[in-house]
Amino acid sequence: MSRRDELLAYADTVRGFMPRDEGLSLFAHALAHGEAHRDGTWLEVGAWCGKSAVYLGAAAEATGSVLYSLDHHHGSEENQAGWEYFDESLVDPLDGRLNTLPAWQRTIARAGLEATVVGLVGHSRVVSAHFAQPLDVLFIDGGHAHDVAWADYRAWTPKVVEGGLLMIHDVFDDPADGGRPPYEIYVAALESGRFVADAAQGSLRVLRRTPSE
Ligand code: SAH
Ligand code: MG
Repeated sequence: MSRRDELLAYADTVRGFMPRDEGLSLFAHALAHGEAHRDGTWLEVGAWCGKSAVYLGAAAEATGSVLYSLDHHHGSEENQAGWEYFDESLVDPLDGRLNTLPAWQRTIARAGLEATVVGLVGHSRVVSAHFAQPLDVLFIDGGHAHDVAWADYRAWTPKVVEGGLLMIHDVFDDPADGGRPPYEIYVAALESGRFVADAAQGSLRVLRRTPSE
């Protein structure tokens, strides 16, 4: 099996919130971009247990790029006890909080991606204020609450280079299918004139940064 097929098959087994068709689309768009612009700096907001990091990491490894995988690792609102996406096995018995960092580390180690995928453990807002590196690829899949999603949009999208790729997850055109904030920031990106729509797969939206005049 090729390295690529091995990683994509492995990604399927990692727990998380990335359907296979969307993960493959994430991989394919990042790969095409990386092939045209090698050795890039990529970043994802929202790592959870590393599922999307394997899809993106497979493309990063193949193109000499590095993926920063950012998360505070304590889960979003909807991952907490009593909510829809709670997973008891991820609770740290020492403090009773969710902790996805050990699972994330195991995922990246088993994938053999430790030289390509670098974890950034912290709050998105804090890290973004001290992160000056321009981004070739940005994937936004963090918290879906209104304030959190908008903070990610404002903090991270200005760092995308001209011609760079912005991908946003959980964008639902129909409000009946899911929460609004990811859709709102997708629309804001288009209306800003800084991004144009490139492709879509399920709830994944792919945009490209336009050159500034
Ligand atoms: N991409 C993942 C799913 C991410 S779920 C996959 O493929 O499975 C959303 C993640 O965003 C959660 O792990 C949560 O801890 C993280 N998150 C939410 N708000 C955050 C914030 N403000 N800073 C850092 N991480 C945050
Ligand atoms: Mg998501």
